[in-house]
Amino acid sequence: MKKITIAIDGHSSCGKSTMAKDLAREIGYIYIDSGAMYRCCTLFAMQRGLIAEDGSIDTSTLESLMPEINVSFRLNPETGRPDTYLNGENVEHQIRTMEVSAHVSPIAALPFVRAAMTAQQQEMGKEGGIVMDGRDIGTAVFPDAEMKVFVTASDEIRAQRRYDELLSKGEAADFQQVLENLRERDRIDSTRAVAPLRQAEDALVLDNSHLTIPQQKQWLLDRFQEITASNE
Ligand code: C5P
Repeated sequence: MKKITIAIDGHSSCGKSTMAKDLAREIGYIYIDSGAMYRCCTLFAMQRGLIAEDGSIDTSTLESLMPEINVSFRLNPETGRPDTYLNGENVEHQIRTMEVSAHVSPIAALPFVRAAMTAQQQEMGKEGGIVMDGRDIGTAVFPDAEMKVFVTASDEIRAQRRYDELLSKGEAADFQQVLENLRERDRIDSTRAVAPLRQAEDALVLDNSHLTIPQQKQWLLDRFQEITASNE
């Protein structure tokens, strides 16, 4: 059976990556977290001192250093899930901090950052058999993806999930700050000039505000089976 391309887009912290990872594992596809790639660019810029205290970015230096940003994913045998590597270093935890979250959307709005990451994502998915989650996967990265899903949930529910996740990792977190961060990221992501976050016209919409993780997984699997059956 031909392996298809699956694009899962949506708002910040709506559980896209959990759903995408579970689906990929279940159907034997490769999972790629495109948000992790933008987070790596942000961490790299922070480590090089290219983001000032007021949030302004030294874009010309970052642009000249883009060829030095090499992101890869390797399976973690303990978790059974892929960890993110930046230039050979495991940065899975570092890229999920509030500090990176606070700077990632302005970095991801830079056209040269998007061009570099989009090219890498298209290369990773060129054979199909991939589940990629992000903001512009069904609209810009793989506009011809056979299965596109747009996920959303209420702001408060998304903030609560993200807050719980940070606490479970032992990170200090403030609910209000988490809520404001995700609203601000959605605002920047939806209004940027290049590949803004929007629902693809042919996407299936899933509001998972009141669904459990197993219910979401089943919903995705059902859609996958319908699509692959109709493609045969
Ligand atoms: O998915 P995650 O929340 O980790 O993504 C972090 C940020 O990366 C998003 O808020 C967005 O600014 C950016 N992003 C993007 N395009 C994607 C994936 C993520 O602009 N395809």
